[in-house]
Amino acid sequence: MKALVYTDTLELQYRDEPEPSVGDGEALVKIEAIGICGSDMHAYHGHDARRVPPLILGHEAVGVVQTGSHRDKRVVLNPLITCGHCNHCLGGRSNLCAERELIGMRRAGAFADYISIPESNLLDIPADMDSITASLTEPAATSLHAIYLAEQALYRPVSECNALILGAGSIGVFAALMLKHKGCGSIFLGDTNALRRATAETANCGTVYDPLGDELPPQGSFDLVIDAVGSGRSRAAASALVAAGGVISHVGLLDNEPGLDTRRLTLDEIAFLGNYTYSVIDLRAAIGLLYCRALGDLAWVESRSLANGAQAFRDIHEGNAAAAKIVLTP
Ligand SMILES: [Zn+2]
Ligand SMILES: [Zn+2]
Repeated sequence: MKALVYTDTLELQYRDEPEPSVGDGEALVKIEAIGICGSDMHAYHGHDARRVPPLILGHEAVGVVQTGSHRDKRVVLNPLITCGHCNHCLGGRSNLCAERELIGMRRAGAFADYISIPESNLLDIPADMDSITASLTEPAATSLHAIYLAEQALYRPVSECNALILGAGSIGVFAALMLKHKGCGSIFLGDTNALRRATAETANCGTVYDPLGDELPPQGSFDLVIDAVGSGRSRAAASALVAAGGVISHVGLLDNEPGLDTRRLTLDEIAFLGNYTYSVIDLRAAIGLLYCRALGDLAWVESRSLANGAQAFRDIHEGNAAAAKIVLTP
């Protein structure tokens, strides 16, 4: 089969690879579409010690099952493989399983013609759901999960909140579209990349601004800040812009530099929530929202061929990609 293999820092090769072996309880899936995630970029930059080359990256995938009881079904992959029997797994919070493992990290990912994955990680999708839309399930579920956790910590419903999102990648854009879907009328979205800002504006994500150039929104004015960047600078911005009694939802994982103002968090009773991935229910809910077009026309997503995937990584790396999400098709 053909696969896009991460071979070294800033290097990907589209080449022949052996077809994956299919273990007990696993299925072989023929990939239809697979999105490039910020975490794939992180690996590509050589910054992820957990992703060691040579490795097939990629975890935002949809495909057709080739083997076993799900044969011929179109499915979205739940990329998070978990033990299935610990308290977190049984309690519906499988994302916290101590044995959790993401595909495309130690085991092969989905930038390829085929992948093998446990059958319990297959999620059925409607037969007429197009594959590009379905491939957005994973990032959409990440945003959905973050908002769900934030809703439990917010003092008032999101429809009454001023919301700020830092980062206009797919997580940030989806978060804005979901908050809007929930009736939130005041949404700001900050990104330093002009192309991404233009895309976020066409996607109707609210008030889009440049944190480095434009006049900043007033300090302490947002009940909810979703940090979809996760850098020292974005945490400093979130700490300053969040309102007293508000919530910072931390989703991005760019770096671990200082920036969070724990003194202000304490004095102003600000909740800081870490968010990691999603539960199976979040994935199912995301499929539903995407399928019924609750999140708009998704024209901000671009698709390219897997064979040209290396160029897509390069374009994102150089800041030349306007799309908030690029999806590759084998
Ligand atoms: Zn992802
Ligand atoms: Zn578990």
